Amino acid sequence: MALNLIMLGPPGAGKGTQAERFARSKGIPKISTGDMLREAVKAGTAIGLRAKAIMDRGDLVGDDVIIAIVKERLEQSDAKPGFILDGFPRTVAQAEALDALMAGKDPLIVVDIAVPESELVRRLGSRLVCEDCGTNADAGATATDGGQERCGKCGGRLKQRSDDSEAVVLERLKVYRRDTEPLVDYYRPRQTFRSVNGAQPPEGVAADLAAAIAAVNGAGR
Ligand code: AMP
Repeated sequence: MALNLIMLGPPGAGKGTQAERFARSKGIPKISTGDMLREAVKAGTAIGLRAKAIMDRGDLVGDDVIIAIVKERLEQSDAKPGFILDGFPRTVAQAEALDALMAGKDPLIVVDIAVPESELVRRLGSRLVCEDCGTNADAGATATDGGQERCGKCGGRLKQRSDDSEAVVLERLKVYRRDTEPLVDYYRPRQTFRSVNGAQPPEGVAADLAAAIAAVNGAGR
């Protein structure tokens, strides 16, 4: 049975870190729409050019664009044994489109990572990501280069994400509450929905996440 997972949760909940870790342990791809958009911005594609201004103000890129990107990505062969989506869906329209894409396939397992808002603001304000590969510094060991911290994955320089400034963080949280939080109610009635406590160290979240997913599988979905 394919392991088809989505990770819900506000910005700063640790979705990327946990998705990366879980995907590696199961040999399935982590599909992050935020990473795909940042790559498009870096490569200067038409989608990237349009998305940049929207991302910089903390708003959401249009549903049609994002749904098309995800559809194409899920059709690639490496997603056959399963996938973990990070940052998608973010609106009810995206969730409905994903349900349509998944018709006839193994069911989606949905895990919500819950973290109080005060903790999110603190985390986002201090988070560092690699300038080159985008990896979150918390997600992997950081290496040091003469006192300067470097990315543990590729050795790139660490910097603050451009949309992690305080004003943009507040806007992203507002957009989360308005557009994305309703997804928790959208998915909650499903037997494959679980919520884990994200306000604990990453190892604890990872253990709870693995247990939640195993419990869904064990329930004979
Ligand atoms: P993330 O790395 O998931 O925090 O995403 C960074 C930014 O990319 C978001 O603030 C949005 O502007 C955009 N983005 C990522 N995923 C989506 C999505 N599923 N729908 C709309 N916009 C998205």
